[in-house]
Amino acid sequence: MDHSLKRLPVSALDDAFHAMVAASRSAPPPALAARLDSLKRLRSMLADNETRLEQAISADFGHRCAVETTIAETLFVQGEIKHTMKMLPRWMAARRIATSLQFWPARNRLMPQPLGVVGIIAPWNYPLQLTLAPAIGALAAGNRVLIKPSELTPRFSALLKELIAAAFDATEFSVTGIDDGIAQAFAALPFDHLVFTGSTRVGRIVAEAAGRNLTPVTLELGGKSPTIVDASADIDEAAQRIAYAKLLNAGQTCIAPDYVFVPEPRGDEFAGKLHRNMLQMFGTNPANSDYTSIISDQHYARLEGLLRDAVARGAKPLSLTSPEDPAWKKLRKFPPTVVVGATPDMAIMQEEIFGPLLPIIGYREPDEPIRYINAHDRPLALYWFGSNEATRDAVLARTVSGGVTINDCLLHFAQMNQPMGGVGASGIGHYHGEWGFNSFSKLKPVFYRSPFNRMKDLYPPYGASIARI
Ligand code: NAD
Repeated sequence: MDHSLKRLPVSALDDAFHAMVAASRSAPPPALAARLDSLKRLRSMLADNETRLEQAISADFGHRCAVETTIAETLFVQGEIKHTMKMLPRWMAARRIATSLQFWPARNRLMPQPLGVVGIIAPWNYPLQLTLAPAIGALAAGNRVLIKPSELTPRFSALLKELIAAAFDATEFSVTGIDDGIAQAFAALPFDHLVFTGSTRVGRIVAEAAGRNLTPVTLELGGKSPTIVDASADIDEAAQRIAYAKLLNAGQTCIAPDYVFVPEPRGDEFAGKLHRNMLQMFGTNPANSDYTSIISDQHYARLEGLLRDAVARGAKPLSLTSPEDPAWKKLRKFPPTVVVGATPDMAIMQEEIFGPLLPIIGYREPDEPIRYINAHDRPLALYWFGSNEATRDAVLARTVSGGVTINDCLLHFAQMNQPMGGVGASGIGHYHGEWGFNSFSKLKPVFYRSPFNRMKDLYPPYGASIARI
């Protein structure tokens, strides 16, 4: 990796990065106490500014349900900090590795070391969680961290920059601006590790830029997460849980159920129940404060386009009103819509939806969803509802996805000890908890030679010495 002081045209970004690199190469790795102190400062910063952060995110969205920000962002990040602080002494300790018999009584250890400077590029949909959760793992592993937040959440991004600058030395942890051109310049910096969370399209660009520096990447990407309702499922329970998971953050969740396979004879019944649940949970008034707005007019128009295309190709929308309804549109609240009779030729079945549109596809044989899923990009998440263990285990064995929740949605993501990460087009690498600590560390193998081993018998002249080994 080229860390020479060869500069891009002088810029604040370039200076911030090079200052971090210089500090990381000259100072010894931070001890446990220093890492715990960083995490404590982050914890206090969050606790002291919870309302400001929540309000900034809400203003960026137009409206973001405050409870959703608390559950999916603040509590999640505080939980990650708490878990990391508790486990860090164990994660940092050198790990014992068995020693091959012929080298006894020597010792093998795996020594976790900070990589140096970790860059984080984050999206807008959970701006607090997706900037800070990877930062927690990177700081815990003893790295310095530079974050590039999203330009679609300008108020939040400016506030995060201000708060981190007040709590941390700029060479330890800082946040860039969101000016034009900064994203590309950021991805081109020779980080020791780069975490990118965002779309698969931009992920490819970032991976290429990082590849030029041989910078290792963690790519947390998007895609379409399928949901299968098995013939053995409790339809009422499935409809309620899927409706909630789909409408959290108005569907702007990377692991939201993207489309649902339902046994053909029960398609209409399921769609009706799904829609009733959506109305019960989020009401009929667009001003309902529990329901989050779509992030921008451009994304609202994109969702309208997906729905128009599906209807033009024969799908039937099940919705309280049209997205063109001015009462909804002026608040950028997209009416929750079940799309009945979706077919693979529709754009809604080809692009990641990332909004409150839920296509339903009928199926006859349990193999059909498996074949469909395997004919498409590997998804970030997969959900399965039912009680038939044989069909459940066939789906688990024959599909590959970033993660799975059985009989609910999203919950595998909330498990502290489970890795988060996609596979294939949905991502590369993992983080959260120890998985993040390991991803942002060099796990260095160290062999401690024993004075009592007879390896010297192997030195030339070989003669008959080989026979004594
Ligand atoms: P995006 O890919 O448009 O942008 C993500 C980030 O990349 C932003 O900060 C943006 O400024 C930056 N960026 C844009 N062009 C760039 C370039 N050329 N070089 C470097 N950086 C660049 O994604 P988005 O719209 O912000 O977020 C939505 C997407 O993120 C969805 O696809 C969603 O599934 C995905 N996502 C994935 C996860 C996960 O954990 N796997 C979590 C949240 C969101």
